[in-house]
Amino acid sequence: MSKNDSPPRNKACAYCGIAGPFTKEHVFPNWLYNIHPEQNLGFNPKAMRFIKGAPKIGDVCEKCNNEYLSKLDEYAKNFFTLLGLDEHYSPEIPVLINYDYDLLLRWILKICHNASRASAGAVPTLLNNCIPYILYAKNKTRNVYLFVEIISDYNLTEGDKKIVPENIKNLEKLPSQMWRVGNIFASPKTQYVAKFLSMNAYYFYLLLFSDATTTMERESLIWTIKHQIPDMKLLSSRRKQLMTSASKSTLLDRYRYQAISVASYWREYQNSQ
Ligand SMILES: [Zn+2]
Repeated sequence: MSKNDSPPRNKACAYCGIAGPFTKEHVFPNWLYNIHPEQNLGFNPKAMRFIKGAPKIGDVCEKCNNEYLSKLDEYAKNFFTLLGLDEHYSPEIPVLINYDYDLLLRWILKICHNASRASAGAVPTLLNNCIPYILYAKNKTRNVYLFVEIISDYNLTEGDKKIVPENIKNLEKLPSQMWRVGNIFASPKTQYVAKFLSMNAYYFYLLLFSDATTTMERESLIWTIKHQIPDMKLLSSRRKQLMTSASKSTLLDRYRYQAISVASYWREYQNSQ
């Protein structure tokens, strides 16, 4: 984490609103890039191209970062170290997830908030309303659902091997090695926020509903998502452990549509190297 040398005038911290001093950092915490420097590459939706150096934000003050948000990153580091960030899974392999619901949810909300600011879009109001909860665990966010899915390696077929890039031709399995955050649905609505966050094999699905929604509306949306992601499991706020098993879905099931939409930009990037 390094200081931003020349913050624009009148800039306010995205979390507490004070006028700095600010820090500059990646959307995903730096400890992740220390383990996986090759991930320091991202698709920039503003520029519509892949850019070396993952998206950065420079609008969080030192106090918020050092006193509050870094505690969440520390928790996430322990959480993923315990689970095994680079663990590979096959369908139905049992997995025990130990978690602190509030710390995990606050970290995921923080990443979603940072990612919204780093990309082209504005931060949804429902996500902004979570700031006291993210920073101080205050005003606990209501009508929030957090699901997890542990996706399995994709078994490369002989047919796949004919068309995949040279460097993965000899692999039997294709693991998920991607950190991404985005919307579950293409057109976001004001009544809810539906985000996913993927950390290699671990996929989190976050649903935040406005207080104006009814139980039936909330259940209906959850049902729709469950239909697409049948193996996702609810992380209960009242528990500290979830015994689950790896999903039958693979990276290809979760990434197919995005991969097609950015494929031509990826080729452009590779040709330019
Ligand atoms: Zn601040």
